[in-house]
Amino acid sequence: MTRDTLILHAGYRSAKDAGPFRDGPQFSSTFVSPGDPADHAMTYGRFHNPTWAAWEDALGVLEGGHAVSFASGMAAVAAVFGVCLRPGDVVVLPAESYYTTRVVASNWLTTIGVKPRLAATAGNAQARALDGARLLWIETPANPTLDVCDIRLLVDAAHHANALVAVDNTTATSYLQPALTLGADYVICSDTKAMTGHSDLVLGHVATNDADRAAALRTWRTQQGAVPGPMEVWLAHRSLATLPLRLSRQCAAAQVVAEFLATVNAVREVNYPGLPTHPGHTIARSQMHAFGSVIGFDLGTRDAAERVLRRLALVREATSFGGIHSTAERRARWGGDAISEGYIRLSVGCESAEDIVADLAAALGE
Ligand code: PLP
Repeated sequence: MTRDTLILHAGYRSAKDAGPFRDGPQFSSTFVSPGDPADHAMTYGRFHNPTWAAWEDALGVLEGGHAVSFASGMAAVAAVFGVCLRPGDVVVLPAESYYTTRVVASNWLTTIGVKPRLAATAGNAQARALDGARLLWIETPANPTLDVCDIRLLVDAAHHANALVAVDNTTATSYLQPALTLGADYVICSDTKAMTGHSDLVLGHVATNDADRAAALRTWRTQQGAVPGPMEVWLAHRSLATLPLRLSRQCAAAQVVAEFLATVNAVREVNYPGLPTHPGHTIARSQMHAFGSVIGFDLGTRDAAERVLRRLALVREATSFGGIHSTAERRARWGGDAISEGYIRLSVGCESAEDIVADLAAALGE
């Protein structure tokens, strides 16, 4: 059976089972469980929940491994840091990774004696920073620069140096970039983005090939309390069925939009891994099924970027990405990233490419 069909049916009851296709969300903080707790599959709502179990089974199909759901992408990031890193350990992070991941490393990990080491995503520079490292953290395509690195090459280098590898797969998702298959020990994803795609919930997960690592992540979740809500998880599971549909359409439109932006005089640079001019294009082609829904483009100045954002009628000015409605923002408004004041991160939704291009063309005065 094809992967798209498997994802569509993942976590649903079999076609032979009578009853609903999928159970409704289970809202229960406690479960009737007399006697020895070990005799019961469900006891307390922070430990387990049947709605999580169905979602995690479905995520396991997508990821090709064990999946553990968390309350947000950052809770998933913190869980991997928490189970992997001890005082004295070195973690190699991408210099241009998602800002908050770097903030957690510099503001929190350093206080317990973990040493963050930053190296660029582009040019696989992280491979040259692995000496003595316990964990290599990869983000490709990186948010917001969309720089790309070679996952297999970095995994080989890290394993050779006895380091574990975690891939933050949020911009691509494992549908486009099967990071466990490419050798990662952990895959992290903010399910707030393309995974769920409807801009209506906050969620994250970690996937791993190793049952003991998955168990350690569950223990972390139980003890730290970073548990997802059953309603969010149930909605997320519903959205997973349309992930292939949504992303295929979004990626196709993003390619058209990126090619259009590359023809506009006012645009100084377009960062999209699907453009042959992108320095990581060949690597992206080798490790991604398609190039994603996120495009970066530089209008040079803050004024120029703000003017274009104000003029957009269809594309909403909003943070986050991966949703079915196109959004854009001037990324430097948040600070913390080494990017131009005029850099816009555009997330291409499920509108027709023609309409998105028309909106951008009007805003850019084309
Ligand atoms: N990782 C990446 C690459 C992100 O872009 C984000 C959020 O933007 C996160 C992690 C954190 O996810 P969340 O906002 O769901 O906590």
